[in-house]
Amino acid sequence: MSNEDSTRPVFETASKCPKCSQPGEDRQQTPGVKGSTIHHIYCVNKNCKWYNTPCQLIQVNRDGSIPSPKDHSREKKIYEGFDDHDRRAQELIETLKRNAQAEIRPGGAEI
Ligand SMILES: [Zn+2]
Repeated sequence: MSNEDSTRPVFETASKCPKCSQPGEDRQQTPGVKGSTIHHIYCVNKNCKWYNTPCQLIQVNRDGSIPSPKDHSREKKIYEGFDDHDRRAQELIETLKRNAQAEIRPGGAEI
């Protein structure tokens, strides 16, 4: 059980928003490879560009271990997945931005 104690600080460090370095909120979990769980961390810093978006995805293995985000060599496949998630998150942010602009603009319905 000491394993869980040693991974918790890792999780907290990993769940910080890469943009503003504030701790994010773990709002969603989806199944990952080999029985792991992907935690979707949302930024909760209102001043951050990535506020309310999944700014970070953390894989927690079935044994509770968390692969280091910097270790690209060993878990290549997984990080390709992360890249895709990043792209989708970025697309989501762009969509939200566009929606926000449309709302501000008078007669924003016409595009
Ligand atoms: Zn942030």
